[in-house]
Amino acid sequence: MTGKEVLGMEVSEKKVSGKKFLGKTVYSGSTMGKVMVLRNHQEPIRRTKVEDAEQEIGRVHGALEDAKQQLAELYEKAVKEVGESSAAIFEVHQMMLEDDDYLDAIFQVIRTEMVNAEYAVAVTGDNFAGMFAAMDDEYMQARAADVKDISSRLIRILSGQGGADFAAMEPSIIVADDLSPSETVQMDKKKILAFVTVHGSTNSHTAILARMMNIPALIGVPLNLDEIQTGMTAIVDGAAGEVIFEPTESQCSEAEEKIRMEQEKLRLLQGLKGKKNETKDGRTIHIYANIGSVSDVGYVLENDAGGIGLFRSEFLYLGRDDFPTEEEQFQAYKQVVQTMGQKKVIIRTLDIGADKQADYFELGKEDNPALGYRAIRICLKQPEIFKTQLRALLRAAAYGNLSIMYPMIISVEEVKQIYAIVEEVEQELKRDEIPYRVPEQGVMIETPAAVMISDELAELVDFFSIGTNDLTQYTLAIDRQNQRLEDFYNPHHKAILRMIKMVVENAHKCGKWAGICGELGADTALTEEFVNMGVDELSVAPPMVLKVREKVRAM
Ligand code: PEP
Ligand code: MG
Repeated sequence: MTGKEVLGMEVSEKKVSGKKFLGKTVYSGSTMGKVMVLRNHQEPIRRTKVEDAEQEIGRVHGALEDAKQQLAELYEKAVKEVGESSAAIFEVHQMMLEDDDYLDAIFQVIRTEMVNAEYAVAVTGDNFAGMFAAMDDEYMQARAADVKDISSRLIRILSGQGGADFAAMEPSIIVADDLSPSETVQMDKKKILAFVTVHGSTNSHTAILARMMNIPALIGVPLNLDEIQTGMTAIVDGAAGEVIFEPTESQCSEAEEKIRMEQEKLRLLQGLKGKKNETKDGRTIHIYANIGSVSDVGYVLENDAGGIGLFRSEFLYLGRDDFPTEEEQFQAYKQVVQTMGQKKVIIRTLDIGADKQADYFELGKEDNPALGYRAIRICLKQPEIFKTQLRALLRAAAYGNLSIMYPMIISVEEVKQIYAIVEEVEQELKRDEIPYRVPEQGVMIETPAAVMISDELAELVDFFSIGTNDLTQYTLAIDRQNQRLEDFYNPHHKAILRMIKMVVENAHKCGKWAGICGELGADTALTEEFVNMGVDELSVAPPMVLKVREKVRAM
């Protein structure tokens, strides 16, 4: 299907009203509401000649006011969510928007070249960023990223995209070319009705976030984003993989009926709360939930999960300008374990890299980032980053039922190195008389290497959690981010199922437990097989907990 061909019809350039666009379902569920289009920031900024320079300058003044307003709102939101010190960056940005040198340079470009405001801001932003980056002072060098950031904000406002203004937005259906995990993690989940993207893959972290948030999501929808405007109405039918813009009255009433029926189904599932995850012949399995931030804990409790089987701690590192401090991390982990009471909380250490990028890590460009410098490799090579997180984890472990889990393990030596660093951290905390506890420690089994040596690993660790997303990627040699390979990606591949069985058996031989925290754990077509294999725990997106429980109880 070409970009413009939908259900066999040619889409006329501007008419999308009432047409059905088909994509691939990431998370089902139906919704209806206003659209917010996030345009690709990589789009080149056009240079156009203008007749009236003062009018363009007036546009810049208007955009400056809007940008300051957005930043003030972002500051308020950030103070509440991440604390004053991390929020301060938005104050710095507000001050930078008042800098005379920066503003005069923009006005000068408009007046002398008689060009559009967007272009003048882009050129000035690039020039200033280059100037800052070349300075000797480290503090001034770091301002290069900030000047780029404020310039992008102005450009988004000038070109009517307003993309980053998540603080002020109404609940909306987000339509974009693609979304990165760091963009997604910054959004206020309560304000997202659905995600619809032109690109993306079902196993990407953005897709995982959508599932975690219980938000209908479609990828690979062949849209021409020039035809879609913010403010349009749309219907998203996740189950059918369908989106309709500017629907007709009858399409709206059909959608309303569908939404009502889905809500009724959800209401029935609520009846399973408080019930055991027990098969008819008395076998039980733990059903835990996956989270990415402290604010997800509400969904875990709401869906009656028995614990948290995977807290993707790297999301604390995304969507910001600098590393989270030990204290920030400690507060986040402590809040999660305390909120969960006696229930188990498994926190995975930093799994940054590949599709989860944060500029301040300065990871550099790699030809094969999924096979590159990521996760435990960064932690072992840059132990100062790892130790900060471990200190926070050991301290938080004193407040509840916390376990630590290490990602992307491929060897016994890595586990030994990790334990040596944990030991160092423990000694430092003891010396400084800071309360701590060394908790249960396990590893993720998400590389074929880890599967093959799982007998040896089992002797060293307390538990295994199988990361089927990466295990499938590395076993089948299929990039989980590559949309073109979706048809080849078979998560039910025999190789994967045999690997899971092998890992569970090796864990049990050593008296250890083994769970699954990859997306496959939530695949109810396999629940019965997992229980029969003896899998001890399934950790799934919070909205899937009761669906998996229903399946187990029906066995
Ligand atoms: C996995 O790989 O299955 C996993 C759970 O980790 P992530 O999806 O975050 O890579
Ligand atoms: Mg993984």
